[in-house]
Amino acid sequence: MIDVIVIGAGPAGVLAAARAADLGARTALITRDKFGGMAANDGPVPVRTLAHAARLMREARQLGQYGIAVSEPILEYPRLLARVREVVTDVRTHSTLREHVDRLGVTLYEQAGTARFVDPHTIETESGLRLQAEKIIICTGGTSRRLSVPGFELTATHSDAWGLTSVPPSMLVIGGGATGAQVASIFNAFGSRVQLFQAAPRILPTEDEDVSAAVAAAFRESGIVVRENFGTIESFEKTPSGVRMVFSKDGVRDSAEATLVVVAVGWVANIAGLSLVTAGVETDHRGFVRVDAYLRTSAQHIFAAGDITGRLMLVPQAIQDGFVAATNAVRGATTRLGDQVSPIGSFTDPEYAQVGLTEAKARETHDVVVAVVHFDETTRTIIDGRTAGFCKLIADRATCTILGCHVVGERAVEIIQVVAIAMAAGMRVDDLAQVPLSFPTYVGILGRAAYRAAQQLNLEVSWQAHQVED
Ligand SMILES: Cc1cc2nc3c(=O)[nH]c(=O)nc-3n(C[C@H](O)[C@H](O)[C@H](O)COP(=O)(O)OP(=O)(O)OC[C@H]3O[C@@H](n4cnc5c(N)ncnc54)[C@H](O)[C@@H]3O)c2cc1C
Repeated sequence: MIDVIVIGAGPAGVLAAARAADLGARTALITRDKFGGMAANDGPVPVRTLAHAARLMREARQLGQYGIAVSEPILEYPRLLARVREVVTDVRTHSTLREHVDRLGVTLYEQAGTARFVDPHTIETESGLRLQAEKIIICTGGTSRRLSVPGFELTATHSDAWGLTSVPPSMLVIGGGATGAQVASIFNAFGSRVQLFQAAPRILPTEDEDVSAAVAAAFRESGIVVRENFGTIESFEKTPSGVRMVFSKDGVRDSAEATLVVVAVGWVANIAGLSLVTAGVETDHRGFVRVDAYLRTSAQHIFAAGDITGRLMLVPQAIQDGFVAATNAVRGATTRLGDQVSPIGSFTDPEYAQVGLTEAKARETHDVVVAVVHFDETTRTIIDGRTAGFCKLIADRATCTILGCHVVGERAVEIIQVVAIAMAAGMRVDDLAQVPLSFPTYVGILGRAAYRAAQQLNLEVSWQAHQVED
């Protein structure tokens, strides 16, 4: 019997295996497919590469504004897909994680097929591997949610985009969350006629309301048809040129059709085939593995980390989970999962990003001040011709610290990282306003927002770095 088996080699599993081995445990890492999981092979890396291509097309169209004459960019989708594959391979080749787990002596079983519990300490895989361990860490991630409506098999997921040989002339994207918004934004830039259907009253429902509204407005302006609150899907049907979606609202039937329908209506836990019941591992009402603050499941020797736990489903959180779960598996449950500042962003056009509380949530529990700076007020955005967007900073009147920040516009995701650092450091807005941020930069907008918040709080900002902008 070995010490620790980790199931799933995405960011959570890789970090868990590395940490367990680093603590001296004899560790095996088993994964169904390739090392790296969703993050490296099917999520952020390929999607970000497509988003970059979309961005390059937009930049190419801007060249004329700066006196550079070129013809209209033409996308060769197969070549772009080749580039995506190249990037995925390159990222994997340059990842030091693989080398790290090898160096630490982790035994890696790649492409081992689906693993399952045979008893609470024994794992067997489809390839016939059978291993026993004192402790087991489940890091099997998630997968796209399926809808039980007739004709669902006619629809695609974001992963199917890699299999297309050309850009579909038209596309319905069902689901206006982070993944749906990215798919809609990217394929709109590539020339598809995109309709984005959102069942909820607004797209990006977990973002600040102003962010949802701004992104929806920008999407509409760029030609995407955004249909919020559209009703309930009844079925999907094959048509001569694609797929028709039939839906109804308030008893009225309607339909929309396109060459391709991409469904992005949420993420469910990857528990199929694991036989969790055999191990006494319980799931919650959404089907995710239930864990306590030590990432321990209902079976005391089994831990879980990453998307499979159904909390913030992002790479940095999966990594932190993997570390905590492995520490507790090897040393005993001593390390709690701390409250963390978690920046979140998406690479749509325009980008959007957030950290901390939305304005509505902050107002429920705090007396707040809100400072907004629009992108058309700052030098760098004007230089670059990227004047659409805003930065909203929310501060607590009592402590003068930052409760949340929301940015829509160019480099929003990068800007929000700086706020996350300021929040993690517990900085007050007047302290932030006094940092001499470089000029002219996108991040400079934060100095201005912090200064405006400080003014509302009657705080003195002695070294007025923002003055170069104001
Ligand atoms: C389109 C898209 C874009 C995204 N963009 C971002 C982004 O920009 N930034 C960000 O931080 N996050 C992003 N994410 C989320 C991110 O990819 C996940 O949060 C992250 O990959 C979770 O890591 P994980 O280790 O928990 O699971 P995964 O990365 O999903 O890895 C789980 C691994 O376990 C394997 N497995 C599953 N079941 C079994 C089994 N029974 N036996 C053996 N192996 C099994 C799987 O095959 C997989 O390799 C995106 C996700 C998607 C879908």
